[in-house]
Amino acid sequence: MARYTGAVCKLCRRERQKLFLKGSKCYTEKCPMERRAYPPGQHGLDSRRSKATEYGIQLREKQKIKRSYHLLEKQFRRTFEKANRQRGVTGENLIKLLESRLDNTVYRLGLASSRSAARQLVLHRHFLVNGRPVNIPSYYLRPGDIIQVRTKSKKIDVIHESLRRVTEQQVPSWLQLDKANLKGTLLSIPEREEVPLNANEQLIVELYSK
Ligand code: SF4
Repeated sequence: MARYTGAVCKLCRRERQKLFLKGSKCYTEKCPMERRAYPPGQHGLDSRRSKATEYGIQLREKQKIKRSYHLLEKQFRRTFEKANRQRGVTGENLIKLLESRLDNTVYRLGLASSRSAARQLVLHRHFLVNGRPVNIPSYYLRPGDIIQVRTKSKKIDVIHESLRRVTEQQVPSWLQLDKANLKGTLLSIPEREEVPLNANEQLIVELYSK
């Protein structure tokens, strides 16, 4: 499966915003955004002075959301098209679809320190959904679905390390975590305003409608 293999901190710098792609490092002063919150490259500093076009602003917003959820263009576009076919506001549908992905839910529950780590764990069949193994990161969960670490995967260090850092308050309101049993439940699909994502998804709708 295709995936981005470059330096992820550069992506945050390019978007001039923390996208939290590196797990625990993102919360420390080692995060490059603490010292160099400007785009990478020779003209990174200069770019702060140039005025962005309407297209440029829409493109950056799309890249920001796409990169936050660790998706490539094709996967992101497919999700957008699915959102567009659904009833309701397309931008909000898009965020709801991204949030209900299995890899994102594993990350939000704290069973992985980043979305890329969650994706790896899912691909390696370490999770059950409603008692059945699922190794598809884009698997869309429904309210009531139960995600659980497989019995033979319960000793995996990275899962425990990640969980150690999670407090009850950090688990989003639409999820329930049972730390002792390495298990979580999707209580509901979150509304847009519940999702902690600093981005304007409406700009993506405008971009893709051109
Ligand atoms: Fe982004 Fe995390 Fe790297 Fe900071 S440490 S630049 S938040 S990926």
